[in-house]
Amino acid sequence: MTEHSYTFQTRLLHNDHKFDEGTGAVSVPIQHASTFHQTDFDHSGRYDYSRSGNPTREALETTIANLEGGVKGFAFASGMAAISTSFMLLSQHDHVLVSEDVYGGTYRMIQDVLCRFGIEHTFVDMTNLESVATAIQPNTKVVFIETPSNPLLKITDIQAVVKLSKANGCLTFVDNTFMTPALQRPLDFGADIVLHSATKFIAGHSDVVAGLAVVRDEKLAEKLSFLQNSFGAILSPHDSWLVLRGLKTLHCRLEQSSRSAFRLAHALAKESMVEEVYYPGFSFHPGHSTHVYQAAGPGAVLSFRLADENAVRLFTKHVQIPVYAVSLGAVESILSYPARMSHASMPSDQRKKRGITDGLLRLSVGLENADDLLEDFKNALDAMNQYDTLASGGLHV
Ligand SMILES: *Cc1c(COP(=O)(O)O)cnc(C)c1O
Repeated sequence: MTEHSYTFQTRLLHNDHKFDEGTGAVSVPIQHASTFHQTDFDHSGRYDYSRSGNPTREALETTIANLEGGVKGFAFASGMAAISTSFMLLSQHDHVLVSEDVYGGTYRMIQDVLCRFGIEHTFVDMTNLESVATAIQPNTKVVFIETPSNPLLKITDIQAVVKLSKANGCLTFVDNTFMTPALQRPLDFGADIVLHSATKFIAGHSDVVAGLAVVRDEKLAEKLSFLQNSFGAILSPHDSWLVLRGLKTLHCRLEQSSRSAFRLAHALAKESMVEEVYYPGFSFHPGHSTHVYQAAGPGAVLSFRLADENAVRLFTKHVQIPVYAVSLGAVESILSYPARMSHASMPSDQRKKRGITDGLLRLSVGLENADDLLEDFKNALDAMNQYDTLASGGLHV
């Protein structure tokens, strides 16, 4: 059995970097050197300068390329560095088509930075293929997908968008942060670049900020290599090692978190204080069948809507277990408030238009015992209920 026929779960551990050739060490060595001795000027060595190539970063880059099924991987200093560097494939007067409820940082990069370089954009509801087809312009060069989207977990049909994209000579980028290659491999559906905030599920321990990109073909790999080296937003050797370490447990972390998320989503849907639950694992989710076709599971993120900002204030005051913070995809459950956190950089009218209302909370489920989580959420909602009863009781006095 060759390593390539192993399942994903096994390849996380048994890959090119199972042990170090030189020493037998079973953890990839952290190579801090910034520069590498050259024997003579006619023959340059494998490495020359760590911005251009570093053995520890390269170990991560080849590992993620293998897991996503691409020809080459790239590690960046953050998810935004990976996304921004990929956007540098665009030139002045080009146009990019973007999922309308894209990650707040990506929105800001497109809206406030790329504009200044003469790169145009249109935000579109990617779940509606007709809207996508209509929004493609003669100068559209990139179609940027995030699926499931953030924070409403809307599902885009990757294969269908890629088809439209290719027919119009565009590249397709997919932000695969929420799924990771454990659950979804966009390159298999014809995408050209897969992007990650490795800060989230891939590293998984809330202790490193990192980004990854994987490309589908050699020509694009050359271009992105050039850009990674030119712009220089590379991941450090130590952070590359942290991501490699987190990656080893990706499969079992996601499996356990996804199972708990499934239970929580169903429990929340039954609560009277919860107006709506957004979760691609519901059979009645509008994107459910597409998601089942293109991904191996619904993942560990869900969002739910309470009445308003006041309800959010009460709920977050009473809920005990989750960390109340930005970010997601960690060993600990993380509760975030998109209107004030991930999407704070989006003007409020744009937010509301996208359904990111003041009552919306996003939950990334961690590795706590699911019963503990269920009880904690139930208690917080019950406490709100009591408050509600008291408040309405007060009106009658
Ligand atoms: C966090 C996140 C990013 C940005 O990644 P950083 O590592 O924070 O720069 C991009 N896309 C999605 C979907 C994210 O959740």
